[in-house]
Formats: sequence, structure tokens, C-alpha cells
Amino acid sequence: MPALSGGTGGADALAPLLHTALGALTEGAARRGGPVAAGAPTQLAAQVAREFAASSGADALHQLTELLAHGSADPADPACAAHLHCPPLAVAVAADLVVSALNPSQDSWDQAPAATTLETLLLEELAHLVGYDPAEAAGVLTSGGTESNLMGLMLARDRVLAKTAGHQVELAGVPVAGPRPRILASAAAHFSVQRAAALLGLGEDAVLPVAVDHTQRMDPEALAAELEGCARRGEVAVAVVATAGTTDTGAIDPLRECAALAAAHGAWLHVDAAYGGGALLSDQLAPLLDGIALADSVSLDWHKLGWQPAAAGIFLVRQAETYASLARRAVYLNPADDEEAGYPSLLGLSLRTTRRADAFKIAVTLRTLGREGLGRLVDRCHELAGWGARATAAHPRLELHAEPVLTAFLFRYTPADPELTDPALVDQVNAGLRRRLLREGRAVVGRTELPGDGPGRVRLKLTLLNPHTTDADVERLLHAVAVAGQAEEEALRAAPSTPRTATRGDAQ
Ligand SMILES: *Cc1c(COP(=O)(O)O)cnc(C)c1O
Repeated sequence: MPALSGGTGGADALAPLLHTALGALTEGAARRGGPVAAGAPTQLAAQVAREFAASSGADALHQLTELLAHGSADPADPACAAHLHCPPLAVAVAADLVVSALNPSQDSWDQAPAATTLETLLLEELAHLVGYDPAEAAGVLTSGGTESNLMGLMLARDRVLAKTAGHQVELAGVPVAGPRPRILASAAAHFSVQRAAALLGLGEDAVLPVAVDHTQRMDPEALAAELEGCARRGEVAVAVVATAGTTDTGAIDPLRECAALAAAHGAWLHVDAAYGGGALLSDQLAPLLDGIALADSVSLDWHKLGWQPAAAGIFLVRQAETYASLARRAVYLNPADDEEAGYPSLLGLSLRTTRRADAFKIAVTLRTLGREGLGRLVDRCHELAGWGARATAAHPRLELHAEPVLTAFLFRYTPADPELTDPALVDQVNAGLRRRLLREGRAVVGRTELPGDGPGRVRLKLTLLNPHTTDADVERLLHAVAVAGQAEEEALRAAPSTPRTATRGDAQ
């Protein structure tokens, strides 16, 4: 019989397995020797298929752990800096393992007695961090910003459309006739806003993109104009989504202006702080999020600036009563008589039923490091990004797009060959150099495109989330980018090809 791990009896079975897994992690990382395994995707896929087929029995844990460690893009390596993909803190990983072993499920009290209370208490602390009154607020742990944004927009739809539809939208559905519902979000907002609009029956085209400036921050005058346009056309502005920390540049929309405009038009304000919410941990950076407490709902992601293993998403509302349309009664999970007898269940706060106790690792991390300790990690990554941006601006072959707001910045390689000025070819060199770095196992650098049309918009991105990375590491990374750019230029001269142009649907 295979050993189970639930309860204290499981710890004995777990110890030798953990020993095996930790050993294999180290061996796999040593075999990789860099931020990512070198090789083309087909080579890596063939290796994974081969080793997966060959693994079996009691050795499978060791074999497959080594394979996964070897074949991972390692966020703890300073040269892995593409995405909001953080190296998790060891204490958070240990706490997550505890959750796996005990396996509480947050949908009913009788599956998670202590974890239910811990999640509630943690959410009160996070509500306070946002500036909400914890006694009034409510929230839940989510799988991430995508789910949190969906929840915020669902509550917005149910509350705002109920007024114009004259019925409960969550029961009777989105009105088929009547004024067109709209969501206003900046052109640099996360694509999950469009996804949510589609899932909520409003359609992606309900989202009106609001113009942004050079740094990708929403232009408040453009928002005012879009809202007036909605009113003029007789449409209902259901929600304004303000982004606090855009995925590419970390830009923070003008939250106070967004709040005032949303309120003036009867729209819900959702603040997507999946990235920028981390600034709340830093005394230095928290003022950037001034006005977040005016939001009706907020998304935070502690698997970004929070150093948690995924998933560690958080959804909060300012007023618990606005949660009403999500409430659910399942007679076998949260019967009314149980709740009256003092057995609370979190079922009605989530879109999910079975749900991991992701609050636990956050609670442990918050108590271990304190807000101050976490704030120092945020500040260090912010400093590192500032340093990297200055080094980029000073580099003869690199061009900085804009100063970092949080911990990320965009830039590009500019060809040494004075003839190579066609913007489509410059895009091709930049896109190609990033794949070259991946293929050579040297670096994982981000690649994105600036909003708008036409060639010349491809940019590289460094997202610095590793507080142990040094200035010298960033310098080496920039040097590797320049060397790869040179190699791409040479490859292009040897075999010129037609550049690929951007297509619709290339999302942020
Ligand atoms: C990462 C991100 C999301 C999506 O969050 P997930 O946790 O990946 O679901 C949404 N909005 C912003 C601004 C983000 O940076």
C-alpha cells in the first residue's frame, strides 16, 4: 500500500521522499547549468518524452524531479527575467508543502476548520493594506489576476446592470435589449479584461480601450471622453478597470481620477493591482497607489511581487454586501442551520468549489518577514530596475523605452550596421536575439510590442523580481543581449528573409 501523507502519520512517509526530491532538484539544476536548458524546443520535448517513458517505479520521483529541474526556466537565476515569474521564498514553499500534506479545502468549514479562519484573518490584513475598512470589506484567495479580474467584473455587471435591466442579471441573464453595456480599460490593460467580458456574456467588443501615454499610463482625459461618449450614445458604463502596474511597463493609471470619473458615471471601479499591489509593501513606493482604497474591487497577486509559489491571487471588495450575487447555498457544504450554529464556510466567496488553502503560505510569509521585510525585497527589485535602466540608456547598442515605475523596463537592441534601419528588420533582430538567448540557454528575456500599429514596436523586457540579483548580474545580462543582437545581425546579412508582421490577437 502506498503511504498517505495526511495528518501527522504522513510525516514519516514524507521525509525520505523529500530527501530524494531535494537531492534531485540540485542535480537537475546542476545539469542545466544556466537559467534554462540549452536546445531547440523540439530537442527538449524529445528529451522529456524519452525520460518520461523511461521513468518508473520507486525511482520515478527522482528521475522526473531531475528532469523537471533540468528543463525549467529557473526564476531564481538572475538571467531569468522575462515575466512576472518570481523566485518563491523557501519559507513559502515549505508552507505550501504543509498545505499539500494536510490538503484542506476552503469550500466548507468541516474540510478546513483552522484554514477557514486563517484565510479570513489574512484577508482582513490585506484589506487594511489596501486601505479598506476590514470590518466592511470582503475577499477571497484566487488562482490569480485573471480570476480576480473576472470576479470584479462579474460583481460590477450584476450590480450596475441590475439597475438598467430591472432584474437580477445573475438569475435572468444579460438583457438582450436595452442600452449596450461597456467596460472601460486602458489599451495596456491585461487581456484577461477582454476574456472576462466574453465569459460574462458582454462580449470582448464591450471593452472600450482608453488611450495611454508613452509609459502606458491611462490618459484621464481620454477616459473622461470615452465615458462621455458612452453617455451620449445611451450606453451603460458598467466598469472602469484601472491598472496599477501594467504587465509590461508597471505603469500605474491615475487611480483618483479614475475613481472620480467612474463614480460620476455610476460605473464600478476595479483596480487590477496584480503587479503593482506589491508596492503597498514598500513605504517608498506605496504612495504610487494613492487612491486604490476608492476602488470597489481590487486584484492582488502575491505570486508576483510577493514571492509566493503560484497560485497566490487575492480578490477584495470594499463593501461586503456587493458580493451578494456570488453567494451560493449548497445543502451539503454550507447549510443555513450550520451557519446559524456558528460554522462559517467560504463557499459563497469564490467561483470555485474545492479550493487549496493558498492563504496559508502568504500568512506564514507575512509573519516571517513582516510587511517591512517584504517591502525591502520590493525596494531592492525597484533599485535594481533603476540601475538596469541607467545601464541600458548608457549602452551604445541599447535603447531604453522609459524609466521603470516598479521593477520592469522595456528596451531594444539597435543594430550596429548603419544600413539596418528598416523598422521591420530591427523588430526581427530583437525578436530573433531573444530566441537565440533561449536556445543557447543563456538568458530568458521578455519580448513584447508597444500598443499601436505598424513595425518598429517590438521591445525586449526585463522584469526584475529576484532581490538576490546584483547590479553586475544585470550588466552581464545586458551584455549577453548585445552579443546576441550582433549575432542576429550577422545571421540576417547571411540569409535575409521577409519580416513577419504583427497580427491581430497578439495580446499583451
Ligand atoms: C499577471 C497579471 C494578470 C494575470 O494574473 P494571473 O495571476 O496570471 O492570472 C492580470 N493583470 C495584470 C496587470 C497582470 O500583471
